[in-house]
Amino acid sequence: MNLPKTGFPMRAGLSKSEPKRLKDWQDNKVYEQVLKKNAGHKKFVLHDGPPYANGPIHIGHAMNKISKDMINRYWMMQGCEVPYVPGWDCHGQPIEHKVEEKLGTEKFNQTSTAKIRELCNKFAVENIELQKAGFRRLGVLGDWDNPYLTLYHQHDAADIEVFKAMFDKGMIYRGHKPVHWCKHCHTALAEAEIEYSDETSPSIFVRFEMTSKPAGLENFDGPVDFIIWTTTPWTIPSDQAVSLKPGAAYVAVEHDGRAEVMLEDLAPKCCEEFGWEYTPVMVDGKPYVVPAETFHHIHYKQPIFDGVEGVALLADYVGVDDGTGIVHNSPGHGVDDYFACLKEGITDICMPVDDDGKFYTGEEFGTGGPFSGMDTDEANPHIIEFLRERGTLVLEKKITHSYPHCWRCKHPVLFRATDQWFVSMDKTGLREQAGKEVRENVKWYPAHAANRIGAMVEQRPDWCISRQRNWGVPIPSYTCADCGEKVMNDATLDAVIKLFHEKGSDAWFTDAPESYLGEACVCPKCGGHHLKADKDILDVWWDSGVSWKAVCEYRPELEYPADVYLEGSDQHRGWFQSSLLTSVGANGHAPYKAVVSQGFTLDGQGRKMSKSLGNVIDPNKVCDEMGADIIRLWVASVDTSSDVSIDHEILARTSDAYRRFRNTLRFLLSELEGQFEPETDGVAFADLLPLDKLMVARLTQVQAEVDDAYASYEFPRAYRALYDFVVTELSNVYLDALKDRLYCEKPGSLERRSAQTVLAELFSMLMRDLQPILSYTVDEAMAYAPAGCVDHQKYAALLDWYKSPITVDEANEFEGVLEAALELRSAVTKALEDARSAGTFTKSQQVRVKAVVPAEMYALLTGDKAVDLAEFYIVSDVELTQGEELSVAIEAADGECCDRCWNYRTTVGEYNGHAHICKRCAEAL
Ligand SMILES: [Zn+2]
Ligand SMILES: [Zn+2]
Ligand SMILES: [Zn+2]
Repeated sequence: MNLPKTGFPMRAGLSKSEPKRLKDWQDNKVYEQVLKKNAGHKKFVLHDGPPYANGPIHIGHAMNKISKDMINRYWMMQGCEVPYVPGWDCHGQPIEHKVEEKLGTEKFNQTSTAKIRELCNKFAVENIELQKAGFRRLGVLGDWDNPYLTLYHQHDAADIEVFKAMFDKGMIYRGHKPVHWCKHCHTALAEAEIEYSDETSPSIFVRFEMTSKPAGLENFDGPVDFIIWTTTPWTIPSDQAVSLKPGAAYVAVEHDGRAEVMLEDLAPKCCEEFGWEYTPVMVDGKPYVVPAETFHHIHYKQPIFDGVEGVALLADYVGVDDGTGIVHNSPGHGVDDYFACLKEGITDICMPVDDDGKFYTGEEFGTGGPFSGMDTDEANPHIIEFLRERGTLVLEKKITHSYPHCWRCKHPVLFRATDQWFVSMDKTGLREQAGKEVRENVKWYPAHAANRIGAMVEQRPDWCISRQRNWGVPIPSYTCADCGEKVMNDATLDAVIKLFHEKGSDAWFTDAPESYLGEACVCPKCGGHHLKADKDILDVWWDSGVSWKAVCEYRPELEYPADVYLEGSDQHRGWFQSSLLTSVGANGHAPYKAVVSQGFTLDGQGRKMSKSLGNVIDPNKVCDEMGADIIRLWVASVDTSSDVSIDHEILARTSDAYRRFRNTLRFLLSELEGQFEPETDGVAFADLLPLDKLMVARLTQVQAEVDDAYASYEFPRAYRALYDFVVTELSNVYLDALKDRLYCEKPGSLERRSAQTVLAELFSMLMRDLQPILSYTVDEAMAYAPAGCVDHQKYAALLDWYKSPITVDEANEFEGVLEAALELRSAVTKALEDARSAGTFTKSQQVRVKAVVPAEMYALLTGDKAVDLAEFYIVSDVELTQGEELSVAIEAADGECCDRCWNYRTTVGEYNGHAHICKRCAEAL
């Protein structure tokens, strides 16, 4: 008997073996070897989105980097040159915040910008090393010794190069505009830095008395009021207008001799809340109900500042479900308000609140007036009290609503008009062009991601790119010390680019402008030469967003546009978008040809992971306890296009699946290692036994499916195809059927060589198909494999993609036979089970099958591709007859049990003390 044997261990011991293997890869520069092997071939560039360098890696990071590695390893095997340059995002608030925490806010505020930047830099670099070790341990191949960092000089310079390209096209402007403002962090915030959560706010209804009467109420005796509604009383001192819904019907309700104007639909409900009778003012015997347009341009008395008037406008954003259908309008504190006023030509925007969220001191409109020096939150009750005393407050209550909060300090933010730098979405058609790129020139995985980012680009406001912080790349603008003019032009920008290439952006905060600007150090307005460098820095999304320039374009091994970007779906708002806008802005096209977006990692019950819930899965710990290949297999098994789950139970199931794959590899090796070499022992496809041909055909089909799945970034489809093939088809059906031939036929016989040839094909295929997933295990198995099955390579990453001896079309010709054979097999299995439970037979070998099969099936099972069904079903004999319907009967096999192979055959003699030996066994012996 040929008993299976291999040195490939059954027990994996990944947590111990993987670190040794990783060290071997590093010592022998496997990543560089792969690049060298494929040098000069078509490139495949997956451009790494830089994670933020502020802590150890989490499971979301692991999923992200493993997904990228699976893609890269697949394209490496396809023969592409696949340079992978990992990166880190180094600037920004979270790191500055950590430094602030370490120093304490008081000391932090006294520390120089240059020193703060030095500390931030140190923090970032330390954390990068920590993360890098974690990523490498996962088995991710790449240029880890030369990553890209957004704090490199080259990156700083690229920030300004892209800025200049967009500035020259007229896309960048300085504007006074309401932006999200955190008074605790003293900075403007981008949309992506905002988190929404519930907040309880005062909700007040206030009378704004009109200074002239609307058409139709000329004869009304008392005053006429707008009843407005707001949840931010502190914005009333800067009130400049009220907005009504265009086309909507408004009613005047009589109360205390006054005519109170509200949206008709909401008025009855409001009156009930106010404790008023709902008594519409009657004009000519009919209730006074008029369209909003009747009030357009009617003036009213500003509720805080005497002698100041506001004006009524029409604006679509006015809600008709809550309040009174009339909203007060403070263009310095709201984007909708700002645009509604801008449309009416109100450009002199009132903004009485300073950086700390406190009202300016003064008595005039434009200051805090009675609320001078107060914080906005502190002012709320005072303003309400003021209105109550004046008799203009109709109702005060509390409401809970979704309100924007600062992502960093978690405090509610306010809208505040400040001087900021913006990228205009529309002035030069950036929005339109970016939208066109999204729709027409980028492939999105999953496809609906295109709609998501498309809608975001469609709806986003102008991009506010300035921040009032220390840790970032400065906006390269100067202020003339003589006349106050802002100075920025091609000459100054070129000088800054040169400076940053040489010394990095730190130099902005240490070097005097005249020392590097040279001739450019001049104010175009007054001719003075005293330019002061401004302090604002660029939004951190700009930094990572220009990596297409700083990395893909600058590094010779990469390419721009990149083949693919892959990140979490939150990056539609972040990196995918900032990369798109800067690339389209500067060069008119997207920085990527394809984008893969992934969901978030949640626990087994779909909850976010958090320390307090105790449901955190730490990838470093899983590596230490189970091995990186288990995490890799989990990543491959889940549908990352939406949110995915992981917990200990899921990992245990993954571990079980891993054992199935490993056992199959081990079985294949046990028939190949030291016993078979495809180049000398292999059987040509045409000469294979029919059952073996069928299996080659089947593996060719599976291989095509896996290939397609990898190429379209559908890892779970590749996983599913492989799992079903290995566990359901191979282990349960085909490999079992082959055992007789493998164990009992003569070692060099065609029967055994034919079987081994198929096992070698299976093994070769699995080495390639599993390599992107089980990178460590495949590498381990290679040491026991016939050299011809693994391209004579030592490392799995150096394999070339599997090529079947037949084409998919040729393989598909076997489909009919396979289906027929499997259909009959189900019927046979059922009959055997019945016989077993009836106690008639215990082993399938004791049985011969008499099957009646329909004509079509009969033709397939007896045609030119017919297989040995007895072998396939592990029975003594299968007798086929043609009939109407499929039916199976079993009876006792002829002959007797062979002592060697346990098949029931006519025995021919005895051997070495065994009395019953079949003909095949006798020959083999
Ligand atoms: Zn904040
Ligand atoms: Zn000047
Ligand atoms: Zn035998």
